[in-house]
Amino acid sequence: MTSPLDTPFNTLPLRPELLASVESLEYSAMSAIQMQALPAILDKRDVLAQARTGSGKTAAFALGLLDKLEIQTYRTQALVLCPTRELADQVAADIRRLASALPNTRVLTLCGGKPMQAQLNSLRRDAHVIVGTPGRVLKHLEKGSLLLDGVRTLVLDEADRMLDMGFHDDIIRILDRTDRRRQTLLFSATYPDQIRQISEAVQVDPVEIRVESLQQEEPIRQVFYAVEENDKSAALLAVLQSNQPDSCIVFCNRKQHCQSLTQALLDQGYWAKALHGDLDQQARDESILLFANGSTSILVATDVAARGLDIDTLAAVINHDMALDPDTHVHRIGRTGRAGHGGLAISFVLPNEQYRLEAIEQRLERRFPVEQWPRSEARRSRPALPATVTLHINAGRKDKIRPGDIVGALTAGESLNKEQIGKITVQDRKAYVAVDRDQGSLALEVLNGGRIKGRRFKVRLLR
Ligand code: AMP
Repeated sequence: MTSPLDTPFNTLPLRPELLASVESLEYSAMSAIQMQALPAILDKRDVLAQARTGSGKTAAFALGLLDKLEIQTYRTQALVLCPTRELADQVAADIRRLASALPNTRVLTLCGGKPMQAQLNSLRRDAHVIVGTPGRVLKHLEKGSLLLDGVRTLVLDEADRMLDMGFHDDIIRILDRTDRRRQTLLFSATYPDQIRQISEAVQVDPVEIRVESLQQEEPIRQVFYAVEENDKSAALLAVLQSNQPDSCIVFCNRKQHCQSLTQALLDQGYWAKALHGDLDQQARDESILLFANGSTSILVATDVAARGLDIDTLAAVINHDMALDPDTHVHRIGRTGRAGHGGLAISFVLPNEQYRLEAIEQRLERRFPVEQWPRSEARRSRPALPATVTLHINAGRKDKIRPGDIVGALTAGESLNKEQIGKITVQDRKAYVAVDRDQGSLALEVLNGGRIKGRRFKVRLLR
């Protein structure tokens, strides 16, 4: 999050339930995007906003769409389109949190990679809010399982990325099925020409908002190293050695590359997971979870797969392969150095990639020297261990398990204390809990030997 300004939410004409949610989330003041966009959103204007993950954009559109919701009317009144399932899940979770004081609000996600039948069953009862990826939403529209004529708020989140992923035509087809009087909110981290064009096609007289300039938000130290293709793996190990980031994403342009590089890192004793589209959904989810929980230090990812990750204290981003265009580069490096943490972005430049660096320099209006990568003869130190381990529990929401039950089981008999427990994620049929690494075996023993809510479940270490 960029630092909040001083204006509290109660200066807005928001319904009291939403003000209560905001208060319970301890958002003391609006972020810049919220301060600029929310008055226009609540005024039912179309908004075209440049904002990145971390700006508080989700709460801006979520509060807008929830404020207009008629809870008694069971039909879809808001649709949020996102580029990836990870982002859609996160947006839906944020909306549910903000809607917690509005009883019976139904928020449903419709994303590819999930069984159609389960979604068809869920759609038998109309949801107030649908969050989904364009391909799957369109499929439901074409099947007749989803009706959008009651949609009053339509959000395109990370619109630039949806266009990059080729969703333009799907988006237009979906919007054609909605009421023209709808409010359309378009959020994009970057502003290529296509964003302006799609805005012109789908919005009416939008209020334009740009929150931060790129220069201001650059506490990020950018380093560019000249490498040869054959040196890349050695250069990666060298920069990991010299910087020792405790959390870092290594970006590759090809899926196969992600896989082989992850293996190379594992072979050298690093804690790394791959994240790319050839992995099944569960493997991707678990890679993200291990990384977000602090149980693995390095994520080797493609741009598409890393999209929508909400991890805001990355120590470093390494562009093992230069991004194919400057916008993608800006996106990638924006994941480090948030909230005053001071980030580091390292990029490897091949001899024939000078033009890519020049495009970045033009985009950021500054010049970057290309340096020699740190070849060091010094003895390698062992990669640091991640701070936590993550345990997988084969029970979830459908077994009536809540995070508090897991904390309860772990702390029963004074085995662990609360400070040793990290992030807890409860899904339908499974749950995950992070615990301090040195408490991992004890936590496993306690959970496997004891009971959660009076019942026994299987627990294992997630790797
Ligand atoms: P986003 O840019 O939507 O991904 O939001 C980034 C993070 O900021 C999320 O974890 C939000 O819960 C949090 N957030 C959003 N608005 C505020 C606010 N006004 N004050 C503090 N945190 C916020």
